[in-house]
Amino acid sequence: MNISFETLLQKDSFTKEEIIRLLKANGEQEKALFKRSHDVKLKHIGNKVYFRGLVEFSNICKKDCLYCGIRASNKMVNRYDIADDQILKAAKFAYEHKYGSMVLQAGERSNPAFVDRICQLLKDIKKVSNDELGITISIGEQTKETYQKWFDAGAHRYLLRVETSNPKLYNKIHPDNEEHSHATRLACLKSLQDIGYQTGTGVMIGLPFQTYEDLANDILFMKEFDIDMVGMGPFIEHDQTPLYEYKDDLMSLNDRFRLTLRMIAVLRIMMKDINIASATALQAIDPLGREKALKIGANIIMPNITPTQERANYLLYQNKPCIDEGADDCTNCMEARINMADGEIGYGQWGDSLHYKSRL
Ligand code: SAM
Ligand code: SF4
Repeated sequence: MNISFETLLQKDSFTKEEIIRLLKANGEQEKALFKRSHDVKLKHIGNKVYFRGLVEFSNICKKDCLYCGIRASNKMVNRYDIADDQILKAAKFAYEHKYGSMVLQAGERSNPAFVDRICQLLKDIKKVSNDELGITISIGEQTKETYQKWFDAGAHRYLLRVETSNPKLYNKIHPDNEEHSHATRLACLKSLQDIGYQTGTGVMIGLPFQTYEDLANDILFMKEFDIDMVGMGPFIEHDQTPLYEYKDDLMSLNDRFRLTLRMIAVLRIMMKDINIASATALQAIDPLGREKALKIGANIIMPNITPTQERANYLLYQNKPCIDEGADDCTNCMEARINMADGEIGYGQWGDSLHYKSRL
């Protein structure tokens, strides 16, 4: 027999069936879920929100993920690769504005010159920030040796979304070849953990073919994998990608948005001390989307500090926010919004995942 929703909410961990029930909550039940995750967040990690200055430094990618606007086969994209001195300028901006950390994100490349270039960049970022800026990398699947080189050069967090924990669904949203393998992605996550990175993953929510059971399994996967940080957001279709053909089968953007908030809430209750990022894609659907996620359970926000002229070319999905604003505009608007969400900015701090510290 089902326990009452109120009793269910008081639990610290849930079965797959219970997660599905929570993910389907609406009205008063959804409100109660958000209240509980908000309370869990305040109790276990407080109301601090940490900045990660995001530099999307290149949209050149060798992969062909069927959902992504900058996939290699999309010939409509103007490819760019921001010069190192510009990336360092952005790093300096993050440091001087007390962001505490930055994220270097790009399409996937792994040729030796690129690997060495990132090593040098990491060392230079440390130099321009008096060794103070924390650095997260998000450049996809690499060999364990590459991950180790980048770790040794100064990176300490890595974001690699598993996209979905269901290998069959993974195969449906990626080309059918060895370059796009779910097993490789899991092996990469394991290498990152073994090396000592704070390891982040995440999924897209509202993908074609995705079920509530898949999403419940995604949460159980993150718990089982003992992940330190999560960034998950709604899937948003892009008309220059193969998955666009399923646009009429998708749930509404608003439903994807609400479901993402419920995913964050359930994850926060189950993994009380991890870092959860409020994804930019939330803002593409609701102008206050990221602030709503912060209130419910997220504690990380990634202001975009990519040089403005290149932002419009990093279009993973349509309606991407802030593509024509400079870094300063973004910082200002973010400060006001975080205050609105009752958050307090953890200026100048790395804001490491407490979970990472306790699992060491
Ligand atoms: N290339 C690296 C990788 O794939 O890990 C980092 C950059 S990639 C653009 C970052 C994330 O963007 C992916 O992990 C994916 O979840 C997300 N993404 C790509 N296309 C998307 C879409 N159409 N809607 C929402 N998120 C998307
Ligand atoms: Fe490349 Fe990442 Fe987009 Fe896949 S999701 S095509 S790896 S940028």
